[in-house]
Amino acid sequence: MRSEQGGTTGKILILGGTAEARALAGELIADGHEVTTSLAGRTIDPVLPQGTVRIGGFGGAEGLAAYLREEGFDRMIDATHPFARRISENAIKAAALTGVPLEQRLRPRWQKQPGDRWKSVPSLEAAAATLPSGANAFLALGRQYLDVFISRSDCRFIIRMVDPPEAPLAFADHLLVLGKPSSDPDREADLLTAHGVTHLVCRNSGGPAGYAKIIAARRLALPVVMIERD
Ligand code: NAP
Repeated sequence: MRSEQGGTTGKILILGGTAEARALAGELIADGHEVTTSLAGRTIDPVLPQGTVRIGGFGGAEGLAAYLREEGFDRMIDATHPFARRISENAIKAAALTGVPLEQRLRPRWQKQPGDRWKSVPSLEAAAATLPSGANAFLALGRQYLDVFISRSDCRFIIRMVDPPEAPLAFADHLLVLGKPSSDPDREADLLTAHGVTHLVCRNSGGPAGYAKIIAARRLALPVVMIERD
C-alpha cells in the first residue's frame, strides 16, 4: 500500500514499553501504517500508545514468531528499554525464524563528558562491591534492583521511590526519599547536596529522562557508579 507521502505502508509490530516506542507508534500511524505495540504488562496503569496495544509475554522467541506469522506483520521494530535484553534476543530469533525484517531502535547510552567522574561497572553486584566503606550512596535504581546492596551494612543508602515500598526495606541504614526524579539538574543537585551524598549509583539507560542527575553529579564532582549494559 502507498502512503500519502508516497512511501510503502504496512503492518508493524513495535516491541515497546518506553516513551520512545510510544512516540514512534504515533509517527508511524501518522504515516499511514497499521501499528500494534506490545507491552510486557509490568506496569499496572501504563500510558498507552496510539494504535493497537497487546499486553503480556509471547512465550519466548517461538511464541513471538508464531504471533508474527498469525497476525501477518510486515515489519517488527524493537524499541524496548536498553536493559530489557531477553525480549531483544527473542526478537532477533523470531525475525530469523519468520523472515520478518527487524529494526532495532534502542536508545543510545550516555557518554562520559568532561568533568564526569564515572566508574563503569558491568553489573549490580559489581556496583555494590565497588562502593567504599562509609559511602553515603544515592541509589537511582528501580526497587527490583536494590536487594544486592543490602549486604553493604557498612554504607548508608539514600533511596528514591515514586511510591512507598509495600514492606519496610531491609537496609541497616537508609533514608527513603519519595518522589519522581526531576528533569532539572539544579533540583537534583540540591537533593544530592541536602543528603550529603558521596556516590551516585545508576544504570546507563540513555535518553533524556534520567539525565538531570548525571548533570547534577558532574556539577558537584560526585563519583558515579555507572552500571553499563553489555
Ligand atoms: P526482558 O527481561 O527483556 O523480558 C522478559 C520477558 O518479558 C520476555 O522474555 C517477554 O516474555 C516479556 N516481554 C518483555 N518485553 C516485552 C514486550 N515489549 N512485549 C511483550 N512481552 C515482553 O524485559 P524487562 O527488562 O522485564 O522489561 C519489560 C518491559 O519493560 C519491556 O517492554 C521494556 O521496554 C520495559 N522497560 C524495561 C526497563 C528495564 O529497566 N528493564 C525500564 C523501562 C521499561 P516472553 O518470553 O514470554 O515473550
